[in-house]
Amino acid sequence: MPNKKLRVHDMLARIQEQLHYSGCISDYDWGMYQYAFRSVLELLKSKFRGTSKCRISGWTKQELLSLIQPHGRNSLLNLYQTLVINLYYDSFVTPPVKTQLGPKNFYCCYCNATASFQKFDKLNRRQGNYGYICDGLCDASVSYHEGDKMPMGTLADEPLRKLRDRAKKAVDAFAIKSGLGLTDAYGLMAERMGLSMVDIPIARLDFEQCEAYLRSIESLKTLSKNKRFDYLKYLGISKGEE
Ligand SMILES: [Zn+2]
Repeated sequence: MPNKKLRVHDMLARIQEQLHYSGCISDYDWGMYQYAFRSVLELLKSKFRGTSKCRISGWTKQELLSLIQPHGRNSLLNLYQTLVINLYYDSFVTPPVKTQLGPKNFYCCYCNATASFQKFDKLNRRQGNYGYICDGLCDASVSYHEGDKMPMGTLADEPLRKLRDRAKKAVDAFAIKSGLGLTDAYGLMAERMGLSMVDIPIARLDFEQCEAYLRSIESLKTLSKNKRFDYLKYLGISKGEE
């Protein structure tokens, strides 16, 4: 039971250490973990202001998990919140324990069935590879992070998979052509789409967002054709800072 007064920075360091201890040392979305943990702290602060429950130290793991568990289906953020809470509390356990990472159960946003971590062979594509696949076998799927086996985003049917693929290729090509590099190109797109960096991975975009994403890249290309367009200035990035 954690009772030390820790700063958020230190809590995050514990979480990352526990994640590594549990066997995940690469290919995981650390930004998403940080975002999920901070969102839990924010929730407590806003919902329980003025009581001992406004801090994480006022909660047991089980209490906090049941607060976070939604009544319906788990969203991707819910999954990360649950995992990050487990990691945080497990980091205080002696002797050390490993936190159970993925595969996690997920759900299909098309047919409302559960989705689980399994081989794509069932769907007769991407043979031999694993991913999160709709248990209702409606053909929706999404790939995963090898490190923690968390889904990359929401499940996608074929039209959305194709659109995500186009958006991914478009932003990758734009990153090279504009000279921005991947991180800044994704940052620019996040800004234009009004999304946080956490939400910007293509696998998290829905159909309409992908269409808007593609339109946005097209308009950027047009903009850069018309005049000498300084992307870095547009982004507010100074080369000297890197
Ligand atoms: Zn389905």
